[in-house]
Amino acid sequence: MARLNPPKEVLEIATKLREKGFEAWCVGGAVRDALLGHPDLDWDLATSATPTDVMRIFKRTVPVGIAFGTVGVLDRNGRMHEVTTFRHDVTTDGRHAEVKFGASLDEDLSRRDFTINAIAYDPHTHELRDPFHGQMDLGHGLVRCVGDAEQRMKEDRLRALRGLRFASRFGFEIEPATWNAICHSAPHLGRLSAERVKQELEKTMEQVARPALALERWRSAGALGALVPPLHDAPSERFAALDYLPLPGLAGRPQRKVLRLAALFFGDDRRSADVTLRALKFSNADTAWIVRLADVRARLGAAVDAAMLRDGGADGAADGGATDAELRRWAAEVGRTAAASFWRLHAALWSARRATGGAAPSERRVASTHRRLVRIAYRDAIAIGDLQVDGEDLVAAGVPKGPAVGSTLKRLLDLVIEDPAVNRREALVGLAVEMQRKL
Ligand code: ATP
Ligand code: MG
Repeated sequence: MARLNPPKEVLEIATKLREKGFEAWCVGGAVRDALLGHPDLDWDLATSATPTDVMRIFKRTVPVGIAFGTVGVLDRNGRMHEVTTFRHDVTTDGRHAEVKFGASLDEDLSRRDFTINAIAYDPHTHELRDPFHGQMDLGHGLVRCVGDAEQRMKEDRLRALRGLRFASRFGFEIEPATWNAICHSAPHLGRLSAERVKQELEKTMEQVARPALALERWRSAGALGALVPPLHDAPSERFAALDYLPLPGLAGRPQRKVLRLAALFFGDDRRSADVTLRALKFSNADTAWIVRLADVRARLGAAVDAAMLRDGGADGAADGGATDAELRRWAAEVGRTAAASFWRLHAALWSARRATGGAAPSERRVASTHRRLVRIAYRDAIAIGDLQVDGEDLVAAGVPKGPAVGSTLKRLLDLVIEDPAVNRREALVGLAVEMQRKL
C-alpha cells in the first residue's frame, strides 16, 4: 500500500487521537484518489472522538461544521485538516441531514454516497476498511451508490450531481441502478440551493478534463432541464466544444475560470443567459462577461463562420478568411479585453465541428486569425474613446449638444472601423460637418 501516503501532519493528528483512546481513519476523497494513483492534498480524518473531544485534544481548532461533527485542526504550519466524528444521518429531507454522533466506523461508511468514497484507511495499522467493495468498483471503473440507490438519492439529491461528476472525472461508468436513481432524482433537483448547483457545475468545469460527456449526462438524466433549462436544448456541439478548452488554472494556459461556462451559453439569447446565470448566483462580473460573449455569438456567429470559411483573395486576407475590417468589427462588438476569449470559444466550437466532419475553418487559419484579431484589437481604433475627436470637438464643429453627439461619434467609429486611415482629426471633423448638413 505504498501509494497510501498521508502527510506527516495528518499522521500526527491521527496518533494523538489514538493516544487518547479514539479511532482515527483517513476516509473519502483522498483515499479514493490515492488508490487511483492521483495525488490529493485533502486527507480528511474520521474519528470516534466527539467534536468536543477534538477541540479539547488539539490546541488550535476551527469549528468548521460542528453540527455535522467537523472540526478543523490546524497543524504546525497553520494548515487545516478536517476531523469529522463518526456519524449517522438521522433524518433527511433531500437537502439537509440531521446527524447523530456515537456511530461506529462501519455505520459512518454506510451513510456515504458512493462505494468509491466509502473506503477507510488506518494510517497506523495500514488496514483498509472497505465494507461496500469500493476497491472493486475502483478497479472496474464504476460509480455505485452505497446501499439502495433510490433511497440514497432520496436522502440527498446533491448525490445525483456528485455521481455524474465523479463518473466523468475518472472516466467511470455509472452502475445501472445508480443511473436510474439519478434520473429519478431529476424532477426533485429544484430543491437544491442555487449555490450548491453552481458549485457542482463549477467543480465539473474545474475537475473534469473532458466535460462534454458530463454535460451530456446532465442532459440525458434530466438534470439540465430541471436546473438550467435553456441548456437542455442547446446544440450538442457546444458541449463537445468544452473538451477543447483546457482546464482552468493549467500552467501556461491562463484563462478565465468561467471560460468553459461561457462555452455552454455561447450563442444564447442575451436575456435568457442573463436570467439563467443570475438565478445560479453567478457574480455580476461573470454574468456580464458570459452574456456579452453569448450575445455577440448570437448576433455575429453566422457571419463569423461564413467569413472564416471564405476562399482566398479577399482584402486583407490573401489566404482567405476574415478581412481586417471584419476583425475590427468583431473586436469592437465584443470589446478589446474579451476578444481573445471570443476567439478561443470559436476555436473550440470549430474543433468540435471538425471532429464530426462538419464545416469548419482549418486549425491553421483559426490560429493565424487569433493572432491577427488580438493584434488588431489592441492596435486599431475600435471604441469611441479611440477616435481622434471627442464630443467637444463635434460641438465646436456645429453638432448640437445632446444625443446627436453620441450618434455622430458612433457613425464616425463605424467609418474608422471600415478604414482606419480616416481616424484623423480634420477628416473626422469634416465628416461630422457633412453628416450634420445631410440631416
Ligand atoms: P472532492 O475531490 O471533489 O473533494 P470528495 O469525495 O473528497 O471529492 P467531499 O465533498 O470533499 O468529496 O466529501 C468528502 C467525503 O464525504 C466523500 O468522499 C464522501 O464519503 C462524503 N460525502 C460528501 N458529500 C456527501 C453526500 N452528499 N452524501 C454522502 N456522503 C457524502
Ligand atoms: Mg474532498
